[in-house]
Parts: sequence; structure tokens; C-alpha cells
Amino acid sequence: MFVVSRDFSFSYGHRLYRYDGKCSRLHGHNAEVRVEIAVEELDSNGMALDFVRLKEIVGNWIDESLDHRVFLSSEDPLAQVLRDAGEPVVVVPGNPTAELLAKTIHDRVESAGLNVRRVDFWETKNCRASYSRDNFR
Ligand SMILES: [Zn+2]
Repeated sequence: MFVVSRDFSFSYGHRLYRYDGKCSRLHGHNAEVRVEIAVEELDSNGMALDFVRLKEIVGNWIDESLDHRVFLSSEDPLAQVLRDAGEPVVVVPGNPTAELLAKTIHDRVESAGLNVRRVDFWETKNCRASYSRDNFR
């Protein structure tokens, strides 16, 4: 098996709904994301996946749909308030934690037809959540 990865970064705001702690207040992060793609066979160019294509598929989606957006729980009443004010909001089932944002990115990349092995999501340089359908190795 071959694995390739690419790192991405973007800025976002969020708050954790019905959470007892300072993350219940609206605040922002500069996220770092690593997307790993696994393949069994290399293509005719000797590549698992062209890094340029990975950037096009994942990077463009991050730039257009996640960067400088506010992520909120689907239950958070602030989502409608921000929408009414013309702000784009990304609604996350559950809560917009690093764990669920890693899963959101994983599922989106998978739906683009790529075999995602793992997504790492750094909420800060010291705090990372990872998501994979398989056991971590
Ligand atoms: Zn936060």
C-alpha cells in the first residue's frame, strides 16, 4: 500500500454548544489539516495520487467552503442569527469539535472518490484530533 498526504490550513470560528467551559464562547482558530490517501497500485506516472490533484480536490473545497467560516452545532440558535445577518455558517451535527471537524473533512474527501486513510486536525499547534475508519497504526 502507498500513502500520500498533503497539509492544508484555514481559519475558522466556532463555539461549543451546551458545553461548560470557555469554548462555549464564540472564538477562532487557525487549523492545520493533514489528509492521507492510500492506494494499492501506482498510476502510470508512478504516483499514488498527484499532489496537484489532491490540492485541487481538497484545497479548493477547504478554501471555498471552510476557510473564514463559522462552524456551529446544528442545535445552536446562533446559526440562524448569523445566517439572517448574511454570514455563511457551516452546521456540524453534534458540535464543531476538532474530532467532528476531522470526520467532516474525511467524509467529504471520501465522497470525492478518494480512499482516505486518515485525517489529522490540529485545532492549535498542541491539540490534534484524528479520524479514520480503520484502527490507527
Ligand atoms: Zn475552539
